[in-house]
Amino acid sequence: MTTSSTESPDARTPSNFLRDLIAEDVRTKKYGNAVIQTRFPPEPNGYLHIGHAKAIFLDFGLADEFGGKTNLRFDDTNPEKEETEYVESIQKDVRWLGFDWEKLCYASDYFGQLYEWALQLIKAGKAYVDDLAAEEIRQYRGTLTEPGKDSPYRNRSVEENFDLFVRMKNGEFPDGSRVLRAKIDMASPNLNMRDPVMYRILHASHHRTGDAWCIYPMYDYAHGQSDSIENVTHSMCTLEFADHQPIYRWYIEQLGIFPSQQIEFDRLNLTYTLLSKRRLLQLVQEGHVRGWDDPRMPTLSGIRRRGFTPEAIRAFIASVGATRTNGIIDIEMLEHFQRDDLNRRAARAMAVLRPLKVVIDNYPEGKEEFVEVANNPEDPEAGTRQVPFSREIYIEQDDFREVPPPKYYRLSPGKEVRLRNAYFITAQSMVKDAAGSVIEVHCTYDPASHGGNSPDGRKVKSTMHWVSATHAISAEIRLYDKLFVMPDPSDVPEGGSYLDNLNPNSIEIVTDAKLEPSLANAKIEDRFQFERVGYFCVDPDSAPGKLVFNRTLPLKDTWAKIEKKAAS
Ligand code: ATP
Ligand code: MG
Repeated sequence: MTTSSTESPDARTPSNFLRDLIAEDVRTKKYGNAVIQTRFPPEPNGYLHIGHAKAIFLDFGLADEFGGKTNLRFDDTNPEKEETEYVESIQKDVRWLGFDWEKLCYASDYFGQLYEWALQLIKAGKAYVDDLAAEEIRQYRGTLTEPGKDSPYRNRSVEENFDLFVRMKNGEFPDGSRVLRAKIDMASPNLNMRDPVMYRILHASHHRTGDAWCIYPMYDYAHGQSDSIENVTHSMCTLEFADHQPIYRWYIEQLGIFPSQQIEFDRLNLTYTLLSKRRLLQLVQEGHVRGWDDPRMPTLSGIRRRGFTPEAIRAFIASVGATRTNGIIDIEMLEHFQRDDLNRRAARAMAVLRPLKVVIDNYPEGKEEFVEVANNPEDPEAGTRQVPFSREIYIEQDDFREVPPPKYYRLSPGKEVRLRNAYFITAQSMVKDAAGSVIEVHCTYDPASHGGNSPDGRKVKSTMHWVSATHAISAEIRLYDKLFVMPDPSDVPEGGSYLDNLNPNSIEIVTDAKLEPSLANAKIEDRFQFERVGYFCVDPDSAPGKLVFNRTLPLKDTWAKIEKKAAS
């Protein structure tokens, strides 16, 4: 069962409780005359995925709607997992989606301030240095049904805590030997409030601060205060942080700093798709895909390389809206938005993926002519182009059957079909190889059917695409299918791994497709509809004279069918 959290049929103005909430704060002047300030706070520990597109869309889009501003802030408090490569890819991806930030910030810019605030909390008796080992801290924390136990170090004097914390910072103690904890309530029903850890000792080099620090703040201690420093009014994050909201508020209240507020919305989940940087990293590291930007990956760089457009992604995200309950969206819905966008904008071209040679016996040898073809029937402004036609052409192997099954209307011996925009042809005979496979079909054409128009009102049941063999260029085409075979990739039997659900046939490479010659000028990321075949875009692996295309999507729109069925 999958549910869509679409709340309104209108993609431009779907209902969105976040919008309502901000509008109310503006109305009541909750923040006086301050501008609405949001932030998008990725941890630079991987590439952004389509789930992040939702957060980006909400953070940037809503601020913009209210005349506000958005910072891009790297939540870089985890030196061991973070890298500059990720910092760069994230900026590129946010821009590609069509957003730009007010300020580029780093949580690590605030390490000094966060440290000062920690000293302030120690002085106020609100934080203490704990010598318990990580495992003991876990045991002392208790469970949902059992209250926690005070650490024996909980009642250290302010002076001792102050001295120890300064020495932690000065590098006097080994990793893991001590932590700084907030002194809140070991019996709180919310486990996050049972004296959460604020700082840990980690002698690790940070991608920006280098070896300046050997203590690093925890997410909960860093996040709200970073928001506050940036005067963030609405700190939007996903629902799994709802339990963290009390601690977010506690620090801000204890420190008496700018009252940023956290609001949670539903995560984007898609069928057949994993949206977790940790797992995507595993796919990359273990070589299950060719890299973060493998066109099968749900990363923004992957789907971009696949041929998806920022316009379609934004339209999709807008239609999904935001709610307070997590759901799963059918991947077909995203694909539907993408097809819709490409159908309107992608130039048409003819390409034969698996070529079968057709010789038109009564067409003059050596003759070439050009047929005029619309570049995009959906867009008259896209104009037309001249496509060469000659005696030898390629059609798809699938478009010919020596023995046609019932209801097969394409080419077969004695049958007449239309070559799109060109002529009617009738199959007369075949040439076979030693194994008995048809390698060439001989046809006749009707010169009176020029332009693909019926000369006398007689009808043909099939129109096929084709490429002139003498003019064709060759290309490699990469056909993709879903990366996982299960709607929920983590749905595995006991002891299994989501890796067991990888689709062994998620990529198929066609090495010698035949394309109409106008495609020779295609540039990386150019997008096309190959007529009757699907949407394709030029892959960066292309080199002069050696084009490589990715299939973005086949033409068939299963989502449109699902919608139609639901409506009937
Ligand atoms: P992951 O689990 O994939 O690593 P994350 O939540 O750890 O994701 P962050 O870099 O910390 O990733 O996230 C940056 C922002 O993007 C956060 O506000 C987070 O709530 C949001 N976000 C992450 N995943 C999704 C998703 N699937 N749908 C919507 N928002 C998301
Ligand atoms: Mg995270």
